[in-house]
Amino acid sequence: MQAETPRLTFDIKPNTNPMPEADRLKAFENLGFGTLFSDHMAVIRWSEGKGWHSAEVTARAPFPIDPASSVLHYAQEIFEGMKAYRTSDGRAVLFRPEQNAHRFNESARRMAMPELPEEAFLEAVEKLVRLDAKWIPKGDGASLYLRPFMFASENFLGVRPSKEYIFCVIASPVGPYFKGGAKPVSIWVSEHYTRAAPGGTGAAKCGGNYAASLVAQAEAYAKGCDQVVFLDAAEHKWVEELGGMNVFFVFEDGSIVTPPLGGTILPGITRKSLISLAREEGVTVHEKPYSFEEWKADVASGKLKEAFACGTAAVVAAIGTVKYPEGEFQIGGGQNGPVTTKLRDALVGIQRGQSNDRHGWLHVIDGI
Ligand SMILES: *Cc1c(COP(=O)(O)O)cnc(C)c1O
Repeated sequence: MQAETPRLTFDIKPNTNPMPEADRLKAFENLGFGTLFSDHMAVIRWSEGKGWHSAEVTARAPFPIDPASSVLHYAQEIFEGMKAYRTSDGRAVLFRPEQNAHRFNESARRMAMPELPEEAFLEAVEKLVRLDAKWIPKGDGASLYLRPFMFASENFLGVRPSKEYIFCVIASPVGPYFKGGAKPVSIWVSEHYTRAAPGGTGAAKCGGNYAASLVAQAEAYAKGCDQVVFLDAAEHKWVEELGGMNVFFVFEDGSIVTPPLGGTILPGITRKSLISLAREEGVTVHEKPYSFEEWKADVASGKLKEAFACGTAAVVAAIGTVKYPEGEFQIGGGQNGPVTTKLRDALVGIQRGQSNDRHGWLHVIDGI
C-alpha cells in the first residue's frame, strides 16, 4: 500500500494560546514521563483515493472521534518513540530519526496501514520540534520525547483495513524514565503471559502489543518489580524482551548476548546502536537465543556478570533483581555493572553531542 503522494506542504498554524513561559519553566522543574505536553502537534491525513493530504502543524487539541471509528474496535494503530535533545553546545538534535521513519512503515505494512513517505515523517517531526523548540528541556536525562503515531479513523464496523487514517506527532518534555534514576531495575519473569507469537505482531510497534502486555506488567508491579520480561510464546523458554525494552546479557569473558530478531522481538534502535558501539570496542556480541534456565544457571555459576534493558525512553537500565514464581536472584550485587555503564555513557555521549558522532547518527535541526 505505498501511497503515491506528491510532496506534502505543511500548513503552519502557531498556537494562539500557548502555555505561559513561567508555567512551562515551573513544570520543567519536576519532569515526569509523558504527563506534560507541548503547545503543538503535527497532523497528516490519509484517505483512500486521495493518499496523504492536509499536512499541518497546529495547536495541540483533541480529535473528535466517532463511536464507530475503527481504531476503537479493531485497534489498527502504530506508533514510534524518539527524542529531541539539546546538546551541551546548544544544538537541537534527533538521534537516527530515519530509523524511526523506516520502522514506522514496517509497522504500517504489518498492520495493513498505508505507508507514510519517510521524508513526510521526518518533516512532520522536524517542523513540530522547530515550533516547540522552547519545549526541549536542558539538563542530564531530560529531553523532548516525540510520539509519532497513526490510527484508523474511518467510521465503519466491518472487519477490513480502514479507508481513512490520521498520522500525528505530539511532544512531551521528559525527565528520566525510571523514578529511581540510574538505579538498577527489578524485573518479573512472566511464565504465564507472552507478548508475541511467531507470525504475530511482535516486531511491529503497535498499541495492541502493549495492551496485551499490561496484565503481565500489572503482575510485575504486584510482585514489587519495575518491569516484566517475556519468554517466547512457543516454548516458554527463551528470553525475548521486556514490555517495551530489549535485553542484553554480559558474561565474564566480556562477550555479550542479546536475543535475535525474528518476528517476535521489536527491532530497537537503541539495541542496534549498542550492538554497533560494543562491536567497535572489540566486544563479541552474539545475537542468539538465551533461555531463562541458562540465565539462572549462569548467574549461579558467576558466568553472567551483568544484564541490562534498553530503549529510547529509558536509554540503558541495568537489571539488578530478577523475580519469578519460584524464587529470585540478583545480578552484579544489584549494582550497575561496568560494561552497562560504559555502553550507556558511550551512547548518551553521542546523543548529547559530548563525543564524536562518527557514525553520523545525529540529525541537527538548524537554527533553533
Ligand atoms: C520501542 C520498543 C523497544 C525499544 O526500541 P527503541 O527503538 O530502542 O526505542 C523495545 N521493545 C518494544 C516492545 C518496543 O515497543
